[in-house]
Amino acid sequence: MIEQYTRIILKSGKDQSLRRFHPWVFSGAIKKIKGPVNEGDVVAVYSNHDEFLGIGHYQGGSIAVRVFSFEEVEPTYDFWKNKLQKAFELRQMLELTDSEDNNVFRLVHAEGDGLPGLIIDFYNGTAVMQMHSIGMYLIKDQLAKALKEVLGDRVIAIYDKSEKKLFSKAGIEIQDEYLLGKPANGEVKEYGLKFKVNWEEGQKTGFFIDQRENRKLLEHYSKDRSVLNMFCYTGGFSFYAMNGGAKLVHSVDASGKAIDLTRENVELNFPGDKRHDAFVADAFEYLKEIKDKYDLIVLDPPAFAKHRHSLPQALQGYKRINARAFEQIKPGGILFTYSCSQVVSKEKFREAVFSGAAIAGRNVRILHQMTQPGDHPINIYHPEGEYLKGLVLYVE
Ligand code: SAH
Repeated sequence: MIEQYTRIILKSGKDQSLRRFHPWVFSGAIKKIKGPVNEGDVVAVYSNHDEFLGIGHYQGGSIAVRVFSFEEVEPTYDFWKNKLQKAFELRQMLELTDSEDNNVFRLVHAEGDGLPGLIIDFYNGTAVMQMHSIGMYLIKDQLAKALKEVLGDRVIAIYDKSEKKLFSKAGIEIQDEYLLGKPANGEVKEYGLKFKVNWEEGQKTGFFIDQRENRKLLEHYSKDRSVLNMFCYTGGFSFYAMNGGAKLVHSVDASGKAIDLTRENVELNFPGDKRHDAFVADAFEYLKEIKDKYDLIVLDPPAFAKHRHSLPQALQGYKRINARAFEQIKPGGILFTYSCSQVVSKEKFREAVFSGAAIAGRNVRILHQMTQPGDHPINIYHPEGEYLKGLVLYVE
């Protein structure tokens, strides 16, 4: 019964966001904790007038509770399985689960699937789980078992790759490991193009699935253009550009490993194709020396702001890097520019990009506004979930 869980009582007036189904309780909103509580415990949240508001995982920190249900339910094995089942059905509806050309997709997108603290990416039979909360980490074996039941033969391996740094504070020892199966084939397909994904060593779960539709859009604009893919990582944008008929594609990243990965992936899809080259370089340096060299530039930097307090510097960063691209791009060029910082809103990102355009004094028009695809759904009550923003700009 729900009575068994420690109660979190909110201060008067601090219940409003939960009543609007926002799934986070900030520590400052808590009036009283009635009973013992440990990191990762299930807790029940109540208003100052003892009205039930939600049930979630407790964690010391600014987000004190991540609510996974607004109903008085017990989080049993079936409860989690049902959530995973629903997440899977959404991806089935999106036609991502059984396609010949696409065997990589995000299966669980945290708050977007009513599962705060949990990410699951699917790579051609391997599900990579990433727990971002202690509560989810503590039930990982249950989750893995339920996942196997939901996916059946589709899944051959489940790899736990939890965010180590998030847990060190709580004194929890984290070991990345296979919860099911063994290391499997890391070759996946997206729109028929091949990628090698290394979930054990790569960034995040190994691959940025969230750019799938944006890569596809880039393909459409690439014909006969000279393309620069800045911050290329696994090189995704590069071989979509090649597929679209680009006349030259240069991939740049500060990491040598990323460049090796890009070369390998290009080779998988376009063996021996001389149109492609890749360079290890710092973005700000590289963008200094490329006047009129490219007529299509992709800027997909890492999150410049990881926390709210670094927002001003992040906006400066976006302004500067975009200003560089605007200064250098050929007339009639197209810029694909992104921010994946959760704390940078769509409006703020747009302002930063526009300031960059003004510095360069170019005439710029928006052709498309992009975000993350449907397998990274945004819970309408949790706008913070809209973390990926992008603009396609025509530069006169
Ligand atoms: N566009 C990629 C994802 C980019 S991730 C995709 O679609 O998959 C961000 C990348 O930026 C990382 O590979 C990181 O190595 C690189 N990076 C970080 N700082 C950089 C810098 N100052 N200059 C160049 N690359 C940088």
